Amino acid sequence: MFTKGKRVTKDKKVEVINPYNDEVVQALGMSEGKDVEDAITTAHKGFKILKRMPAGDRAQILEKTSDIIKKRKDDFSRTIALESGKTINEARGEVDRAASTMKLSALAAMKLTGETVRFDLAGPSKKMGFFIRVPIGIVLAVTPFNFPLNLSCHKIGPAIAAGNSVIHKPATKTPASGVMLAETLIEAGLPVEGISVLIGSGSTIGMALVKHPDVKKISFTGSLEVGEIITANCGMKRVTMELGSNSAVIVFKDAPIDLVAKKVRKGGYTLAGQVCISIQRVYVEEDIADDFLTALSDEVKQIKFGDQLLNDTEMGPMIDHDALDKAQKFCEDAVQHNGTVITGGKREGNIFTPTIVTGVSEESLVIQEEAFAPIVAVNKFRTVDEAIQKVNNTKYGLQAGLFTRDITKALECARAIDAGGVLINEIPTFRVDNMPYGGTKGSGIGREGPDFAIKEMTEEKLIVFDQII
Ligand code: NDP
Repeated sequence: MFTKGKRVTKDKKVEVINPYNDEVVQALGMSEGKDVEDAITTAHKGFKILKRMPAGDRAQILEKTSDIIKKRKDDFSRTIALESGKTINEARGEVDRAASTMKLSALAAMKLTGETVRFDLAGPSKKMGFFIRVPIGIVLAVTPFNFPLNLSCHKIGPAIAAGNSVIHKPATKTPASGVMLAETLIEAGLPVEGISVLIGSGSTIGMALVKHPDVKKISFTGSLEVGEIITANCGMKRVTMELGSNSAVIVFKDAPIDLVAKKVRKGGYTLAGQVCISIQRVYVEEDIADDFLTALSDEVKQIKFGDQLLNDTEMGPMIDHDALDKAQKFCEDAVQHNGTVITGGKREGNIFTPTIVTGVSEESLVIQEEAFAPIVAVNKFRTVDEAIQKVNNTKYGLQAGLFTRDITKALECARAIDAGGVLINEIPTFRVDNMPYGGTKGSGIGREGPDFAIKEMTEEKLIVFDQII
């Protein structure tokens, strides 16, 4: 764990395992119950300092953090690849994005302002006023395994930009890059009380923090299941919930088949499908469905999977054995629901081979639930209404994509699809770090992207003047 500016060693350790070969790559001190109270005391001190610090100084710390992340790109990339199993190239991409998220957070600190308020709506008034945005207090950042650096930056960056202190609870499988990030922030000038990283199980350490009355805001990214547990237990706190999905793409018959197949190869299998906006469902207009399936399976069969540390590996392992079992179960369930496995569907070591299933019924797991695995279901549709109905036929709604040259059809879909983002002629897996990002329905509450997250980490304070004296 990490607190008061230093790594803390403990007798009990959390072992970080390389998901490719199950070898232990490092061991970090595991937090205990009493560390929760200590972290809260430290965070109170941090909040006192940070809320008084000029916004420009906080921005400078974040800007410098971004610079140091860039300088340490190799170290960060290797750590991320080793702990999460993503390929070294995917990890390099994550580091670039993390540096950008910190820079965007610095800019958000500089831009954050309130607005003037009118008092003459019901008649003449001599009142004049405005609101300012003030930091909220101690922010708890709870992060998942799949983007251990950039998703931490999406919470910690805006929290500090706003003048809050942070307690970070990274995923137990991937705590190493979170500790490196905290070290980087301190090196960049963050007061040592500004951040603590508690490493330990979500249901004990995480839950103790979630329930703590002094935590004012929880920013959570993870599964719907855990999101529901947190919201049921946190009491009167602000929450941002960035949850799972089973993103869909609609391919209309006027779309360029080869180009879309290449994009689905990227969106369905990056990080072995363990991305919240991975493509899981593709609905293809009947006339081109067979040709699309051939093009996609030609693409997917070329994916080079293996050791994530090798430069030419395109897809690495699943995070753990449970994830492999779950992927297997989804494939078996697809077959039981009329599906045909076109390619993949097997385990090779800790890798689940890139899989396409087709013809599965709408009741199957792969259509209804989040697979979080390299499995894409391809099904046919006949009408625009049917495509929209199928995309919406799930409890999730993070992002969706569609491909057509027909602008009217595209806009009709964009309006009717229940999701936080609809991407026209792009896959739902597209994300840049400044955009408003988040879901509807079971995919979450609130939006990330530093300009949006910073608002969720502040509250409005109204100030009114009257001319009576
Ligand atoms: P989990 O929901 O299993 O865990 C996420 C975090 O919550 C971990 O740090 C975990 O700790 C912690 N946690 C678990 N239980 C509790 C609890 N009771 N109280 C407090 N904290 C708890 O997610 P994964 O790590 O498996 O990540 C995958 C999920 O994240 C997928 O569903 C994916 O879609 C989603 N995700 C969403 C994104 C978005 O922006 N919408 C982006 C990326 C991922 P521990 O590790 O110790 O269990």
